[in-house]
Amino acid sequence: MVAFVDVENTARWARTVGFETIAIGLVSYLEDDFRRWEQFDKCPRIASHSTFGVIELMPTSDHETYGFKYVNGHPINTKTGLQTVTAFGVLADVASGYPTFLSEMTLLTAMRTAATSAMAAKYLARPDAETMALIGTGAQSEFQSLAFRSVLGINRLRLWDIDPEAMDKLTANLTPLGFELEVCASAEDAVRGADIITTCTADKRNATVLHDDDVVAGVHINAIGGDCPGKTELDSTILNRSTVFVEYPEQTFIEGEIQHFDDSFPVVELWTVVNGDHPGRSRADEVTVFDSVGFAIEDFSALKYLRDQTADTEFQVEIDLIAEPLDPKNLYSLMAGTQ
Ligand code: NAD
Repeated sequence: MVAFVDVENTARWARTVGFETIAIGLVSYLEDDFRRWEQFDKCPRIASHSTFGVIELMPTSDHETYGFKYVNGHPINTKTGLQTVTAFGVLADVASGYPTFLSEMTLLTAMRTAATSAMAAKYLARPDAETMALIGTGAQSEFQSLAFRSVLGINRLRLWDIDPEAMDKLTANLTPLGFELEVCASAEDAVRGADIITTCTADKRNATVLHDDDVVAGVHINAIGGDCPGKTELDSTILNRSTVFVEYPEQTFIEGEIQHFDDSFPVVELWTVVNGDHPGRSRADEVTVFDSVGFAIEDFSALKYLRDQTADTEFQVEIDLIAEPLDPKNLYSLMAGTQ
């Protein structure tokens, strides 16, 4: 039997516990795994690109537990009523190879992405940061907003999206939760006075969502939307005058904002900041960029968190996913109905 958490139960669990509490728990699981980063098997995710988007597998293992996520990225999907990103994930026991946990990961990916962003900002944003500009107010945006409030206390948001309905949706979702929101007229307008800039747009091309002039000294940029070859958000000039932090350089040079540079471009691996080897932000006027693409270890941490938090609760059920004949050599008995 395999433990299973479906979409409805993930949503009910998150509603019951509250995502701001979950974000703090996720950050703690992420930090534990980032501190032992070197113990994991790592590889860039396996991507199958098409003119429509991308389908990816994201595997990792700490030699006790193996995990992977299936995820897509299709910016054109929302035009036909489908989501840009959907996902599910698995944990397995390395000793037997048996899957032990299966869950939806569309919601969980939004949660882990927001928690990873907030964790990075905890080390990289100025400690006095109060205002965040949010450029792109689609599916990820509420999760980003809530994680930044619970982990960093950011309650003031300046919003911009090319789709006014997406800004109305975010405003309707977050106003009742007590956020101070300002709907802006452009990205340039939104970043005015912001201490943190989150870019979470979806566009399958090299867009310039943020120009060099928009970025003032001391800002932290949380760039999550540039996560595929040919899909970036920042004017490259910004990167030249910033300290750029990445998850796994081998993957980020393929998919992240730094894909415009060769692998001699200097980057800092975020895990070295979390484990204290690198100081993170070193000056108040430094521009820091988290060039986020999403890495398998973050999904591994999130799957473990969901598994542990829903164990022995109504939110987790057992499903008959793996054939288990009484005699392991008599698999045929299951089909023949003789077991
Ligand atoms: P979404 O399609 O729901 O929302 C994207 C929003 O961006 C839309 O509202 C769209 O109108 C807006 N937009 C597009 N171009 C814009 C522009 N030039 N200026 C302002 N707004 C613009 O997508 P989503 O699920 O919210 O994901 C956002 C991005 O984050 C995607 O590119 C996705 O691939 C990426 N993502 C990254 C990670 C990660 O770990 N780094 C994880 C999940 C998603």
